Amino acid sequence: MSNKALVLGAGVIGLTTAYELLNKGYEVTVLEAQPGPAKQCSYANGGQLSYSHAEPWARPYLIRRVPAWLLDSKSPLFIKRIDAYMLKWVLSFLGYCRASKVKYATKEALALAYESKKSLDALLKEVPVNFEYQTKGTLHYYAKKGSFELAKAQAKFQETMGCHYDVLHSLEACTEREPALAYNNRNIIGGIYFRDDASGDVYQFCNGLADYLIKKGVKIVYNCHVEKLIVGGDTIDMVKSRCGYWQADAIILCAGAYSGQLAKQVGIYLPIYPLKGYSLTVDITGYEDYAPQICLTDQAYKVVASRLGTRLRVAGMAEFAGFDHSIDHRRVDTLKHITKTIFTRLDASLLERATSWSCLRPATPNCLPIIGSTPYANLYLNTGHGTLGWTMAAGSAKRLVNAI
Ligand SMILES: Cc1cc2nc3c(=O)[nH]c(=O)nc-3n(C[C@H](O)[C@H](O)[C@H](O)COP(=O)(O)OP(=O)(O)OC[C@H]3O[C@@H](n4cnc5c(N)ncnc54)[C@H](O)[C@@H]3O)c2cc1C
Repeated sequence: MSNKALVLGAGVIGLTTAYELLNKGYEVTVLEAQPGPAKQCSYANGGQLSYSHAEPWARPYLIRRVPAWLLDSKSPLFIKRIDAYMLKWVLSFLGYCRASKVKYATKEALALAYESKKSLDALLKEVPVNFEYQTKGTLHYYAKKGSFELAKAQAKFQETMGCHYDVLHSLEACTEREPALAYNNRNIIGGIYFRDDASGDVYQFCNGLADYLIKKGVKIVYNCHVEKLIVGGDTIDMVKSRCGYWQADAIILCAGAYSGQLAKQVGIYLPIYPLKGYSLTVDITGYEDYAPQICLTDQAYKVVASRLGTRLRVAGMAEFAGFDHSIDHRRVDTLKHITKTIFTRLDASLLERATSWSCLRPATPNCLPIIGSTPYANLYLNTGHGTLGWTMAAGSAKRLVNAI
């Protein structure tokens, strides 16, 4: 008889984990609180598969910038709600902005990101997932000399770890690579093009993968909220949910921003903050030539723009608002303004009709996910992927299953 595995959460991390467990011969069940796959953070994210640019958000220059940003609602990082947990997290984040820690985190993140590229390529060869996906690289552009110089130094450091890139020394060089940038209002002075990167619609991917898993015998139980992990000695004896009690040889916690709450019940502290982000999805039918083909990152605004067929997805921002899912329309207006500044030829009516979305990233202070075992023999973690869960999903799943 095969071993039983129970995956808690059907976002991109839970589903890729279920896929790897299935390949290892487990009898897999996935419990998901929502009525379908990827309805939380893996729903309308930036779409960027940022393998070569998986460096942490924590950076030395942020120690100076973060205090001012936190109080400015138009900045990339904003506090809406202060509490002790949030302050602890921010202090820890600032601690990780030290150069030596950033170097370590960059190496770790890049290694995992490149493993993920390999694993996703392998998965897509085997699983017929139909989703908007393109492997045209990513282009990060800069409006300030200082940031551009820092980015070039970072790219050079990353080159030693197998990262491939081209420095584009002017706006002309950037627009030659991505013509949609020709009409920008951003004073671009140059950019870095990362050849190995890609982009894709994470929600479509998750739905395709869930269909495949079900066909292969994985049981995915939707509308099934996990309420409690019940301890029995040094194992998790049972998982209590709104759809019954479950037992398994391996239980993998992949509940995104909610992982910390479940882990806390059994005495495990996870440094995960629900860092809210926003996205806009714009139907660009009729304006295709004025939207990018290559996935872009605006380094000053800290937003990404991905082309998903006839849609443009613009995403970014980080807000400390606890577990509040509501959409703050001032943030959406800022995102619309940014979009209009980059792609000036897109008609204002397209942005008015755009769909806005917000969600809670499972963010750790060092920007690295938490993958592996716990003090309980049958409980494992694959969570805390923060800003890069789509990028790191396939490799994290493989690492987790190898750890089991
Ligand atoms: C605005 C924005 C833009 C982003 N852009 C990018 C990008 O361009 N590239 C990139 O790589 N990453 C990006 N990310 C990050 C990425 O989306 C996340 O890291 C990733 O989706 C996290 O996946 P997850 O499976 O851990 O979490 P989720 O997708 O949130 O999945 C967790 C699942 O667990 C379920 N769950 C939680 N609690 C319970 C419970 N008690 N019982 C049952 N089920 C439960 C939830 O319903 C949910 O479905 C972005 C995030 C945001 C917010």
